Amino acid sequence: MNINTFEEIKNELNQHGVKLVAVSKTQPVEKIAALYSAGQRIFGENKVQELCNKKSLLPNDIEWHLIGHLQTNKVKYIAPFVSMIQAVDSLKLLVEINKHALKNNRFINCLLQFHIAKEETKFGLNEAEAIAIIESPIFADLQNVKVCGVMGMATNTNNEKQIEDEFRTLKTIFHKLKTTYFQHNDSFNEISMGMSSDYRIAIQCGSTLVRIGSKLFGDRNY
Ligand SMILES: *Cc1c(COP(=O)(O)O)cnc(C)c1O
Repeated sequence: MNINTFEEIKNELNQHGVKLVAVSKTQPVEKIAALYSAGQRIFGENKVQELCNKKSLLPNDIEWHLIGHLQTNKVKYIAPFVSMIQAVDSLKLLVEINKHALKNNRFINCLLQFHIAKEETKFGLNEAEAIAIIESPIFADLQNVKVCGVMGMATNTNNEKQIEDEFRTLKTIFHKLKTTYFQHNDSFNEISMGMSSDYRIAIQCGSTLVRIGSKLFGDRNY
């Protein structure tokens, strides 16, 4: 890991008012602690077990984001402390998050994950599915989840035009949802898009939150 790289990325993001999620999945706690010492506070993990382990070994003021798919039966493990759940893709999951947020007497920030890539993946909503969730009377009753915006991943490709199109699609969805449903909601503000290989494109397309792993920490060991 290279602290200079971190400083460079931070400066770049600061110029655009974009926040950084340091994606620490598979990385050892020592590397996370080093980045913490350099000032980073938001870290992202994609597995519940790994997130809970690391949380117990690292400083309490870290804001942990779960960025991977979450099964409903695992919500209870992270509900006491998670700062944001980025990959919400069903009403059922939102209901479960709300239940455990309530039990822990807190609010849990969530992002709706959209499927914007051309690649086949099981995860992520389309616009119609998201609207169905938001218009549902069940959704209206969820008092302890805060829907803070949208999240998406572009196709893993060298075609920058395609990546840009996909990010612009997410930005458009965000804007539609904001103006139609969240106009008077101060929390609905985040567009989480951009990773190591495409975060500059994401920033140009309106990202507010980038999720960067390998460019900060080096390659992952699985
Ligand atoms: C791993 C991961 C990232 C970071 O990927 P890098 O290419 O290492 O920057 C971002 N978002 C999600 C959802 C991930 O799973």
